[in-house]
Amino acid sequence: MRVADDEIDVIVVGAGFAGLAAARALSRVWLRVVVLEARDRVGGRAHTRVVDGGPWVDLGGQWIGPTQREVLALANELEIETFPTFTEGDNLVVAEGKKRRYRGLVPRVSPLALLDFGVARWRLDRMAKEVPLDAPWKAPRAEEWDSTSLGDWLDANLKTKTARRLFEAALETVYAAPARELSLLHALFYVRSGGDLDMLLGTERGAQATRVSGGMQGFAEKAAASLDVRLSCPVKRIEQDEEGVTVSFDAGGARRSLRASEVIVAIPPGLVADVAFAPALPPERAELVARMPMGAVIKHTAIYDRPFWRDDGLSGMVLSDEGPIHVVFDNSLPDAKSGILMGFSEAKNARRLGALTEDERRAEAVACFARYFGDRARRPIAYADHVWEHDPWSGGCYGAFMPPGVWTELGPALREPHGRVHWAGTETATAWSGYVDGAISSGLRAANEIARHRASHARPHSLSARRG
Ligand SMILES: Cc1cc2nc3c(=O)[nH]c(=O)nc-3n(C[C@H](O)[C@H](O)[C@H](O)COP(=O)(O)OP(=O)(O)OC[C@H]3O[C@@H](n4cnc5c(N)ncnc54)[C@H](O)[C@@H]3O)c2cc1C
Repeated sequence: MRVADDEIDVIVVGAGFAGLAAARALSRVWLRVVVLEARDRVGGRAHTRVVDGGPWVDLGGQWIGPTQREVLALANELEIETFPTFTEGDNLVVAEGKKRRYRGLVPRVSPLALLDFGVARWRLDRMAKEVPLDAPWKAPRAEEWDSTSLGDWLDANLKTKTARRLFEAALETVYAAPARELSLLHALFYVRSGGDLDMLLGTERGAQATRVSGGMQGFAEKAAASLDVRLSCPVKRIEQDEEGVTVSFDAGGARRSLRASEVIVAIPPGLVADVAFAPALPPERAELVARMPMGAVIKHTAIYDRPFWRDDGLSGMVLSDEGPIHVVFDNSLPDAKSGILMGFSEAKNARRLGALTEDERRAEAVACFARYFGDRARRPIAYADHVWEHDPWSGGCYGAFMPPGVWTELGPALREPHGRVHWAGTETATAWSGYVDGAISSGLRAANEIARHRASHARPHSLSARRG
């Protein structure tokens, strides 16, 4: 629904799931909302591509877990069909040059390594329970945990080389950042945000349980369908005065601007630094965005004429201490007309591979799949990936993270509105921060802030005065 340019109540910057959820919530209470999106598509870090006329693949966010209430509710409301991730058969664990089969969550390694792995998991889960999601800096041991890295904690707490390497490989798939760069407090916040490590790492009953039929792009497009989303409009400046906000953006080669009462900025934290604010952001907010780097992940997707690994009773799932791909899933579509292997390179591996050409990345990924699944994996009929780190409208993925010192020094600035400017985006979420679910709840929270603000200031179009 097109909104007249001189009648806008709220401008939302960014048409990822956070911005779309905020805009949908505000439109429901009859506010007139325009969404300005830099890309020529909606969905942000969720993006589906049809590969060479063949199957579709999700190059960004793809899974939904059973406790992700907001994304499940939105999928339900929009009648989005889903299907379970393929898990039948044996998983593979590759450790210290040996390849073994296993079932369930526990990889088959030596009893000592297994014990080591299990104790470390239990400790992290127990510590995570002490982190308040809305204020991690208030955790009883916040200072101690924020002054060290997850890597230092792993060094001190894992005694066997196998457990150390496998645990780090699994955790890098969760965080998309090297353990040495992550604050331990942030690592614990993230675990608590998703529930526990079983939930974050799990497939059948965990965060990797379910996929969206047709891919996440269609989901985002359905969420955007009733909204006034203006594509290819990168926002450059946000200026506030007594009466409202002027948002300036580029469109069709010219600088344009729109006025509104309030703005929701729903873009990755690092990209906020590319937008000029007048008055300037408070120093804590400006420093926060400068000190929240993005993670790095590449999903390497190889398409085969059929899922041949299933013939050998394999699920397609791999956990490996060898790089560059540490974790693999069977990402075939439900009809299994073709076989799709999707492997993650993360952190340092993703940064290195991101600097190569797509042909070079394909060669490395396929060689890795062949080590896990044999020579047939050397001959995919197609390949796709996306280097999110080099994508100017994401700057990395899955999301931004906190290095040591940031939560305790600057955490309170994360969601604090700057006058008429409100913050959304998955990084500002409490539950499922870093995920699509967190993006949606952050958008709903920012929309609620505006609702409360308008109600207390009794402006025209206040939420209590429904139009129509
Ligand atoms: C490889 C990968 C795998 C992932 N896997 C999963 C998964 O399986 N499950 C899951 O739940 N999550 C997953 N995620 C994370 C999930 O995709 C994100 O958490 C979520 O999509 C973030 O949504 P958002 O709206 O907060 O931000 P974004 O999706 O980044 O949306 C921000 C939007 O703002 C736009 N923008 C940026 N700057 C400007 C500007 N100046 N002006 C206007 N617009 C601007 C961007 O183009 C973008 O569309 C994955 C992400 C990646 C990249």
